[in-house]
Amino acid sequence: MPIRQLSETMINQIAAGEVIERPASVVKELVENALDAGASRVEIVTAGGGLNLIRVTDDGSGIPEQELALAIARHCTSKLSNDIHDIRSLGFRGEALPSIGSVARLSIRSRTASGDSAAEISIDGGRVLPVKPAAANRGTTVEVRDLFFATPARLKFMKGERAESSATSDVVKRIAIAFPAVRFTLAGSDRSTLELAATDDTAEGRLGRVAQVMGKDFPNNAIAIDAMRDGVHLAGHVSIPSYTRANALQQYAYVNGRPVRDKLIAGAIRGAFADVLPRDRHAVTVLFLSLDPSTVDVNVHPAKADVRFRDPGLVRGLIVGAIREALAGAGIRAATTGAAGMMAAFRPGATPYSHPGPTGGHRSYEAAYHASDSGSFDPLRSGQRPLDIGNGEMGYGGARHQRNGFAENDQAAFDTGPLASADARAGVAEPAEALLGMVLGAARAQVHENYIVAQTRDSLVIVDQHAAHERLVYEALKNALHSRAVPSQMLLLPEIVDLPEEDAERLAMHSDTLAKFGLGLERFGPGAVAVRETPSMLGETNVQQLVRDLADEIADNDTVETLKERLDKIAATMACHGSVRSGRLLKAEEMNALLRQMEATPGSGTCNHGRPTYIELKLADIERLFGRR
Ligand code: ADP
Ligand code: MG
Repeated sequence: MPIRQLSETMINQIAAGEVIERPASVVKELVENALDAGASRVEIVTAGGGLNLIRVTDDGSGIPEQELALAIARHCTSKLSNDIHDIRSLGFRGEALPSIGSVARLSIRSRTASGDSAAEISIDGGRVLPVKPAAANRGTTVEVRDLFFATPARLKFMKGERAESSATSDVVKRIAIAFPAVRFTLAGSDRSTLELAATDDTAEGRLGRVAQVMGKDFPNNAIAIDAMRDGVHLAGHVSIPSYTRANALQQYAYVNGRPVRDKLIAGAIRGAFADVLPRDRHAVTVLFLSLDPSTVDVNVHPAKADVRFRDPGLVRGLIVGAIREALAGAGIRAATTGAAGMMAAFRPGATPYSHPGPTGGHRSYEAAYHASDSGSFDPLRSGQRPLDIGNGEMGYGGARHQRNGFAENDQAAFDTGPLASADARAGVAEPAEALLGMVLGAARAQVHENYIVAQTRDSLVIVDQHAAHERLVYEALKNALHSRAVPSQMLLLPEIVDLPEEDAERLAMHSDTLAKFGLGLERFGPGAVAVRETPSMLGETNVQQLVRDLADEIADNDTVETLKERLDKIAATMACHGSVRSGRLLKAEEMNALLRQMEATPGSGTCNHGRPTYIELKLADIERLFGRR
């Protein structure tokens, strides 16, 4: 077959293959157009999962009658001046409408503020029909019927009405989070109606929109992020570590208002939470990055959901640093969902408690009860070992029984008064007033050999002593690990790792940082590095694999997170072995010391596995349970 120029329709259908993957992609493009036109209301209607009908109506600027034909012509846009590096709108490629028009029946009815009347243009599987007068208010209505009728092969890939309409809901929610001042409605015979009332573009308004989309649980369990570094601004919210999900779908990220799915951002979130979450749990996040448009490239893929940062290391560092700082600053805070689940369990007549909350999965109340009751009481084990934690000294499970966790005079301030009984299980006498004002209050009793019951001025606190102690040991270990150089061991013979030249170069550039983590390496010819020392904590390690992983990591993110994460993981494993098991009796002052230590330790609201270390029941809630309010 000789070479020939493809027809306009075929060119558009080829483009549609990338831009319009499914009904949700059409909705995304049309909603983006409405927002670019400055709409304050966007109404979306679908039928048949969007395959039969998608209609998007806005009250934006409208399209002048004489430009309607251009709107559906390829490579025609009103959004790009002459600088591809200065993109401030959601659209800029001028290919959505012609692509949609080539695979479906598309009509656009529009009226501008100055236009006397509306006009309408239609395009049917690539065939353009003449512009005709129409009746409409200011704004634009775009209607798409019989999506993919002109490309039946694509139609075969659709997943069915339910899946397609829920993909559309996701798209609308994702974009709505970035435009809180716009009112969105999504309705149709194939779905239940979603209505998002306009809030405003203040921090409060944005959080309000987030609550509309994700539910109130998230704001109640989230920490605000607001950080700036070298002209890049990061704002938004992240969940506290005890509020997690089994997948990363609830991580929303925006770059200059554009919803993106970005590996670098996802990786940075993972890195920031690595310390506080198990590998299979994911934080819930809503993050907005704002930076000079010329330092980020959005022209990576036709769907415009990918971005490339000019300085990926800066962006990653900002995200990791800001989240970690916020988590540390938030101190201890357990998920309110824990207490909510508990309230449900207590409610009169409740069936055995199964808490399907975001953290716990399904663990029945019965099972939890028996698990806590497991280790039977062993007097030899109990009461003897002091809690050696904190201050960077590692006293876990070893021979050092020095009480370095809390100095004697600190202890005096927390004196609980005379003990009612030598047996800590019995209630403690009237607690000191000062203790009641502390976040975790005064310890009153230990029950089931693992739970510390404490009292504040207005609540009852229950602490899982094993989980709490494990966390404290972990933090102490990590501090030790990061505050001084990590000890390394010399290899008998240097190990040579062959690598692509760029990788060898990158590793050599970061050799100082790597040395701090105990990995000593240097360039060895153009395509290799020689490893002389490895971190002793890693023991016998696969040097080749470690170095290659590190090279990949640096190439992706410009940082050396991998090594740090590995070391943190080792610290976590050690902490788990070194902490107080449940089943150990604690004296009143030991319990109070543990509570004070928790208050002073960032991240101690959750154990290393992301479960809460304590729950708090407000007095008001308890009174409500008893029908006293
Ligand atoms: P792009 O958005 O990349 O410019 P599109 O094919 O999506 O390309 O749209 C082409 C043009 O049609 C836009 O540049 C804009 O001028 C106009 N347009 C499309 N939808 C709307 C709308 N809802 N309101 C106002 N103008 C619109
Ligand atoms: Mg567009």
